[in-house]
Amino acid sequence: MSALLPHLIERIQTTGPLSIAEYMQECLLHPTHGYYATRDPFGADGDFTTAPEISQMFGELLGLCLAQAWLDRDAPKSFILAEPGPGRGTLMADIMRATRSVPGFHAAANLYLIEASATLRGVQKETLADYDVTWCDAISDLPHGTLLLVANEFLDALPIRQFLRDGTGWRERRVGLPETPDTLIFGAGESTQIPALAHRLHDTKYGDLVEINAAARATATEISQRIARDGGLALLVDYGSWHSTGDTFQALKSHQFIDPLLQPGDADLTAHVDFEPLTEEAETAGIHASGLTHQGVLLERLGITGRAQALAANMTGETLDAHISAHRRLTHPEEMGTLFKALALFAKGTPPPPGFNPPGANSV
Ligand code: SAH
Repeated sequence: MSALLPHLIERIQTTGPLSIAEYMQECLLHPTHGYYATRDPFGADGDFTTAPEISQMFGELLGLCLAQAWLDRDAPKSFILAEPGPGRGTLMADIMRATRSVPGFHAAANLYLIEASATLRGVQKETLADYDVTWCDAISDLPHGTLLLVANEFLDALPIRQFLRDGTGWRERRVGLPETPDTLIFGAGESTQIPALAHRLHDTKYGDLVEINAAARATATEISQRIARDGGLALLVDYGSWHSTGDTFQALKSHQFIDPLLQPGDADLTAHVDFEPLTEEAETAGIHASGLTHQGVLLERLGITGRAQALAANMTGETLDAHISAHRRLTHPEEMGTLFKALALFAKGTPPPPGFNPPGANSV
């Protein structure tokens, strides 16, 4: 049985059913039994894999994109290179390796990682042993200064709330207990008016489910206000769409989807990311958001095919086959190419980073 389950049962018995956000928060980040707190979940032996773990090309190309953006901003002598949710540190290591030959970039970069898991901080420390890195608990802890930020599959791990349309009101989906309280079940609260969902009354009907990721929105606000004040840009890559209707809450265990209530604390929990609210926060802060860009298109524009061919020249047999399939996995529309999207946030009066659609031109 999951070590977290008795704790969740007791909490629900004491204070009532949990919102999906409270349940995600407990499952992912509980200090002793939480999913990220207790393990390194990546790779073939783990539960899921991510673009930087699939191929070094992902981080290399984003690194060169960041370096070009730095040059386009007159190469500031000191800037913050930040990554929230860095996993194993692979993306940052690939960014640093690819930018070694860009004169002045390493000397100007001050590396900051924002990571909630002590276990993963330990892994990141090993991966990035060659660099001077500072860890933070939150993006708001970063010092002031030109910000170059990159995040891959960070926003999807933040807690969402779910609401079921009921007339002109909404019933919040919750996690509660059955009569014999030895497992968890979904339920829904009373119908109430939710001002933050007023705009969703136009494109939903009775029984439809919508999601709010308040933490993702707050992240976009924090990043956008910093870029408006200090200059810089952010590259946000995740799976999702402009805005969604329907249940995207999902659990992965050993690369299989499972019921999200089945193994609390032992399965990865995520939800698709809505990019519309992130764009709204950028506009409110007075900066630009690029058009939403398919990951496959972005990587092709940044030159993945040429890079893949250069790497392939030194490969044979199984290594070559794995490399070819990694290239396909990152870019093909039937794999990660269109499900994964990239959004860049950047200061007004500065050019968009290479590879991204211009503001307003979403590829959806
Ligand atoms: N970017 C990595 C890992 C993605 S998994 C990759 O692409 O491989 C999500 C990461 O976000 C993990 O490192 C997890 O520990 C971290 N994380 C989740 N919630 C967080 C939070 N609230 N604050 C900081 N880090 C968080």
